[in-house]
Amino acid sequence: MQTLTILGATGSIGRSTLDVVARHPERFRVFALSGGAQFELLAQQCAVFVPEYAVVLDESVAVQLRALLTSIHCATQVLVGVQALCDVASDSSVTTVMSAIVGAAGLLPTMAAAKAGKRVLLANKESLVMAGALMTAAVREGGATLLPIDSEHNALFQCMPEPHDSKSIASLTLTASGGPFLHTPVAELKNITPDEACAHPRWSMGRKISVDSATMMNKGLEVIEAFWLFGISAAQINVVIHPQSIIHSLVNYVDGSSLAQLGHADMRVPIAHALAYPERIHSGVGLLDLATQGKLEFFAPDLEKFVCLRLAFDALNAGGAAPIVLNAANECSVAAFLDGCIGFLDIDRINELALNTVHPAIPVNLDDVLAVDAQTRRWASQIIMDMA
Ligand code: NAD
Ligand code: MG
Repeated sequence: MQTLTILGATGSIGRSTLDVVARHPERFRVFALSGGAQFELLAQQCAVFVPEYAVVLDESVAVQLRALLTSIHCATQVLVGVQALCDVASDSSVTTVMSAIVGAAGLLPTMAAAKAGKRVLLANKESLVMAGALMTAAVREGGATLLPIDSEHNALFQCMPEPHDSKSIASLTLTASGGPFLHTPVAELKNITPDEACAHPRWSMGRKISVDSATMMNKGLEVIEAFWLFGISAAQINVVIHPQSIIHSLVNYVDGSSLAQLGHADMRVPIAHALAYPERIHSGVGLLDLATQGKLEFFAPDLEKFVCLRLAFDALNAGGAAPIVLNAANECSVAAFLDGCIGFLDIDRINELALNTVHPAIPVNLDDVLAVDAQTRRWASQIIMDMA
């Protein structure tokens, strides 16, 4: 029996996780759920899974959630704030933490889980992008197990037998759908609306990652994520566009073998894999029928058009604080785009300007990482105000 804390339970990954968990009550018990502002959904989840704790971000939301829980006679206790997220991620009764908060906000609770030696199911790629060295060290020192949830990295993990000799791997190929604007001319991207950017052709996801998919920043963040997860050089990571999203990535071995993982584009597949690893459980997703899939296409990404993908390689090669700067600038520019303050192509502009302008000292600890993040956000808010 695994005891779970699900950080970001009300989000897309959080809901998919609970969908899989509900299919296997004999395997999983929920200790804590967290959510941002969606307290009504969180209350419904508490009614079904009866966790010890529900964690929200601020006291006003907590008051409303407590009232709802009382009205449905649910005994779940409501906690508030970042320290509470860290506490439920590291509590001694917890075996497994699903890290599915979006953005830099996931960093501290994920680190807390890693330090406490948990089985960490990592959807929050931003925390590895920001603090890959510190996170992998915390996993090692804390005796934690890091299992990737991102479908591409989960695919790569599944295609690497354990133990394997890292010298046997020539390269990793991350597949990318190319997002909703794969074939849209750059001239037409200027007037894209947030809803158009969030209408992903293959995956149903939260709004931030949906915009990241449209700019291909998501693939860029995933390149950096792969660098830290698999200890491979940037030069050995490549990206191929595969619009059908059936092949979720490939490991290319030195002998000419490439191993790929296939499946429907449904996050319950990697979630079920990581929840049950090394066993296999039903995820609620059906089997592939290749004969009905039709054509599978593959081609190289256009790095002139998808600026953010190029920037991610630049940031990874630059090292130091660059990935933190890029991630923070991107979170700000995407939020400003979703709020209607800037245009779609301004995301590229702000992210590129940030990488070229913000040059903090190389961070050595978590406080430094948070300081670079905050410094970049202050810089980005100013630029966004000037633009808007
Ligand atoms: P989402 O927006 O649907 O959900 C985000 C969750 O985090 C919600 O529960 C929200 O309440 C919570 N949250 C938001 N801001 C918070 C804050 N400041 N503090 C605490 N909690 C906060 O996002 P999602 O699509 O589920 O993505 C979650 C993470 O998983 C992201 O890092 C994303 O890159 C990654 N991921 C998602 C998918 C997918 O298919 N959705 C696939 C791969 C990776
Ligand atoms: Mg992915």
